[in-house]
Amino acid sequence: MTTVSSDQQAGGGPSGLQSGAAWMRGRVMPIAEASIPLNDWGLIHSDITYDVVPVWEGAFFRLGLYVERFFRSMESLRLDPGLSESDVKTVLHDLVSATGLKRAYVAMVTSRGVNTVPGSRDPRDCRNHFFAWCVPYIHVIRPDIAASGAAVHVARTVTRIPASSVDPRVKNYHWGDFTKGLFEAKDAGAETVLLLDGEGNVTEGPGFNVFSIKDNCLVTPDDGVLEGISRRTVLEIGAELGLVTQTRTLPLEELLQSDEVLISTSGGGVAPVTKIDDRLFSNGSPGEVTLTIRERYFAWANSPQYRTEIDYRAE
Ligand SMILES: *Cc1c(COP(=O)(O)O)cnc(C)c1O
Repeated sequence: MTTVSSDQQAGGGPSGLQSGAAWMRGRVMPIAEASIPLNDWGLIHSDITYDVVPVWEGAFFRLGLYVERFFRSMESLRLDPGLSESDVKTVLHDLVSATGLKRAYVAMVTSRGVNTVPGSRDPRDCRNHFFAWCVPYIHVIRPDIAASGAAVHVARTVTRIPASSVDPRVKNYHWGDFTKGLFEAKDAGAETVLLLDGEGNVTEGPGFNVFSIKDNCLVTPDDGVLEGISRRTVLEIGAELGLVTQTRTLPLEELLQSDEVLISTSGGGVAPVTKIDDRLFSNGSPGEVTLTIRERYFAWANSPQYRTEIDYRAE
C-alpha cells in the first residue's frame, strides 16, 4: 500500500482546506479555525463521543456502519446531535467534498457542550454540540512499519479501563490508559501497545483491535473492547477465506502461541504484528494469512458494494 499521495494534496477543493477542514454550526472552515469553548464538558470531563470513517480512493468505506455506531454511542451517553443519521452523512459528504481529499480520516463528534445554567452541575443543562472534521488519511501503524510488521509491547504498568467503568463499545476520549501504555511502549522501543484486563486477558490498543491466527482459527476478544468496523470486516473476510472465526476471551498466553498476529483499524486497515515483547511470529516477517486478509481489506474498500462515492463537484 502506498502512503497519502502528493497529488492528493494538490487535488481539488479551495486552498486552505486540503490539509484539514472542520464543519461547525453549518459552516466548513480550515481546521485551524475551528474551536470549542474552554468550559465545554467534552474538554473538562471527557464527556464526548466520536467516530471515524475512512475515505479511500474518493469514497467512504462502509459509511452506514460507522454512522449507526456513532448514533448508538450517543444514545448510550444521552447525547443529542440535533441531526438525523442522514443529515450527518450529508455533513460528512459536504465536508470531504470541500477538501478535495481522496483518502481521508473523517471524524464526527458530539460533546456534552457548555452548561447553559450558571453554576449548574446537571448534565441535562448542557447544550450538546455536534461537529465534524477531516484530515488526510492517518495510519495508526506507519506504512513502512506495517509493511515489515510492527513490534508491540504489552503494558505492565496499566490495564484497560474496566468496561464497568467506561463502556469501551462507546468510542471515547478516555485515553489515560492508552497514553500511559504508549509511553511505556515507546520507552521499550516498540511501535505501539496492547492492554490487558485485570485477569491477564487481551483487550485492545490505542485505536485498534487485535487478532490471533492459529492453525485454521481467527480469534479476537469479545469483552472490554470497541467493536471495530475493521474488526467486523476482518471477521467477515476470515469467514470468506474459510477460517474458523471466534470472538471470545483471549488470554495473553494464548496470543503468544499464535502462528500470526494482526491488528485492525480504520487508520490503515490491517497491519501485521511480527513481535510481541520478545516473542517473534512467523520468523519476524508478516504472515501469509495476514497478508491475504490485508489485501482483501483494500479490495473491499475499492468494491462498489461497500463504497459511498463522494461528489467532488458538489461544493
Ligand atoms: C476506533 C477504535 C478501534 C478500531 O475501530 P475501527 O472501527 O475498526 O476503526 C479499536 N479500539 C479503539 C479503542 C478505538 O477507539
